[in-house]
Amino acid sequence: AGGGGAVKGHVLIIPFPTSGHVIPLLDLTRLLAMRGLTVTVLATPQILPLLSAYPSSVNALVLQLLPPEAARDVALASVYPRAAIQALGSLHGPLREWIAAQPNPPSVIISDMFVGWAHRLAEEVGIRRVLFSPSGAMALSVVFTLWRDMPKIADSVSFPEIPNSPTYPWRQLSGLFQAHREGEPVSEFIREGFLANMESWGVVVNTFNELEGPYMDHLRKIMGHDRVWATGPLLPPEADSFSRGGSSSVLADDMVSWLDSRKDGSVVYVCFGSQVRLAEEQMTALALGMEKSGANFVWVVRADGPMKVLEGFEDRVAGRGFVIKGWAPQLPILNHRAMGAFLTHCGWNSILEGIKAGVPMLAWPMGADQFVNATLIVDQLKVARRVSEGAGTVPDSDKLAEAITELIGEDRPERSRATEIKGAAVEAIDEGGCSYKDLDEFVKCIHA
Ligand code: UDP
Repeated sequence: AGGGGAVKGHVLIIPFPTSGHVIPLLDLTRLLAMRGLTVTVLATPQILPLLSAYPSSVNALVLQLLPPEAARDVALASVYPRAAIQALGSLHGPLREWIAAQPNPPSVIISDMFVGWAHRLAEEVGIRRVLFSPSGAMALSVVFTLWRDMPKIADSVSFPEIPNSPTYPWRQLSGLFQAHREGEPVSEFIREGFLANMESWGVVVNTFNELEGPYMDHLRKIMGHDRVWATGPLLPPEADSFSRGGSSSVLADDMVSWLDSRKDGSVVYVCFGSQVRLAEEQMTALALGMEKSGANFVWVVRADGPMKVLEGFEDRVAGRGFVIKGWAPQLPILNHRAMGAFLTHCGWNSILEGIKAGVPMLAWPMGADQFVNATLIVDQLKVARRVSEGAGTVPDSDKLAEAITELIGEDRPERSRATEIKGAAVEAIDEGGCSYKDLDEFVKCIHA
């Protein structure tokens, strides 16, 4: 129940300002606003522009109260996430004062998993806190278990309680947790945040029941209650999908007409999310792999990456390769009929987007929750095959070319599985589907 004077149906949203965290939480924000809730989003300068197209029941709260040093750390969240997690925590006191001063204060805080301190804040002001997980239910189960049990450092760790969970080599588990084992000072703050996450009143996970049902059940066990909802895959309205998460570095017309000129299922899309920075040798191996495969491709390279690799390459592959330097309109690309495969770092948003588009994947997990995600899509769901592993690995370009050619050219089982699961994803978010119903249920609980 809400605290003194809290307004039922007013929600405060606190995102973590990196693309993979902000994008799905803002998609959820919009759905909540469309269902009649009043929403205030704590907007750092990076987030503000993304809110411009939002319904008027979404208010942006721009707190000027971060000390300059913390503001700088938050601005660098995509490069130094650990420092940013702690820096954002300096909003705890100012936000408490803000809430106390509101004539119509929120009755619920929904915050990202890197904003675990919001649980204590909510307790202090007598309202409820909901954890938003941009990671899947399997990955969240693993991370929770790590922080809760604090296993000894060994070569590998297994999670016997988690359904179908394999043994992971250490380097494949949360970097945050490893930093803690190595005694990095900020990680104690991060650990406290995760322990607080486990005490939250509710949890919303960007996933859907057919995809991760057993892991959702496991999360309910860990949490000790049933207020754990699967509302994914979270998506923007069609009209906004071209500029989701940032303005595209290519013109919509150029991208679409290039894809239109390709045969159905003939293009491999290569993108490693918003954080990964590839080394020159990795870029070279990728370029060679794509060149040798002879396939059509769209390759997203970071605008600040080693561009030397592209010299000559773009000419050699002219006509069948499209290189995007900067931010790609990932959703329209994945959903184009020309799409045949998605080479991904296995970020959870990318996986959901690939699944919703029905595109089979080539997996190259690099860090964070990506190894766990790869287990799910390669070994369990069988919609992907592994092509490489690890942030520092240089893949063999011949093998890469072969994997691309096979997945695009042959009638591989991953393709029919991808089509099947796409059907389940579409159904989940359609009216009456399980994610749709979970969202309704969640909104009802917030109103109560
Ligand atoms: N994304 C995009 N264009 C890009 C790179 C990424 O639209 O050029 C989006 C992508 O669609 C996804 C998010 O950014 O929604 C990245 O999240 P993900 O969990 O896949 O990976 P992360 O960036 O967190 O590693």
